[in-house]
Amino acid sequence: MYRELGLDLIPAELREGQGEIAAAAAGRLPALVERSDLAGFLHCHTNYSDGASTVAEWADACRAAGYRYVGLTDHSKSAAYAGGLREDDIPRQHAEVDDANRRFTDFRILKGVEADILQDGTLDYTPEIRAGFDFIIASVHSRYGMDEARMTQRVLKAMDDPHTAILGHPTGRLLLSRDPYPLDLDAIFARAAERGVAIEINADPQRLDLDWRAVRRAVAAGVTISLGADAHGVSAIGVMELGVGIARKAWLTKAEVLNVEPVEAFLAFVARRRGHS
Ligand SMILES: [Zn+2]
Ligand SMILES: [Zn+2]
Repeated sequence: MYRELGLDLIPAELREGQGEIAAAAAGRLPALVERSDLAGFLHCHTNYSDGASTVAEWADACRAAGYRYVGLTDHSKSAAYAGGLREDDIPRQHAEVDDANRRFTDFRILKGVEADILQDGTLDYTPEIRAGFDFIIASVHSRYGMDEARMTQRVLKAMDDPHTAILGHPTGRLLLSRDPYPLDLDAIFARAAERGVAIEINADPQRLDLDWRAVRRAVAAGVTISLGADAHGVSAIGVMELGVGIARKAWLTKAEVLNVEPVEAFLAFVARRRGHS
């Protein structure tokens, strides 16, 4: 049918009346990102917080699924409801990661954390402790009831912290159960682009946050997108496909996605953000 109409085949995800027909007629459809393009599996929880799988189980599952690295991101200490990492858990987990990494020559486990954005916009842990992680996803997990101005200031301040590499599930929505908190997304996108902070598409089927319509605005503002699984056990490893689907729906190609990059480039992104590149 498309051939008869003189159009390139429009991938199903793009069929939303957002300019795809004109692009297909002009031969300018984007080469959409695919799951197999991803080198890094980011945002997962181990049994050090509320996840069901161990460090080694995550590494083996991600390597078997074709990823080249996994970014572990347990909850931070303020997320007491999720058994967040206490300060004295951190060296224990990092030693376990170092041990597991010794088994691999073609795969790497990164020591990340999903740090709570506290009520005043600061991140969980002291700066010294934060510096000990390979990368940080900063997320709001509390005080959802703030008004838009205060919530926006809170998130902007978190993005100003040089340890913030990725803003996690940016609007906090839970599909069918919790509305997004009020946030001036365009202000967030402008700051993220300015600071070199990536914004997450969270692949948890209850979240799918950032919404695909907003992803297009983020990319237009110059923001890099990170695909995060937010998986709490290796049995949920496949949710990344949903995140890739949302990325495709937002017209993303490999060029806009952070974790298509090899681990060295991913860590260079974090280092630039921290100001020592
Ligand atoms: Zn979270
Ligand atoms: Zn998470």
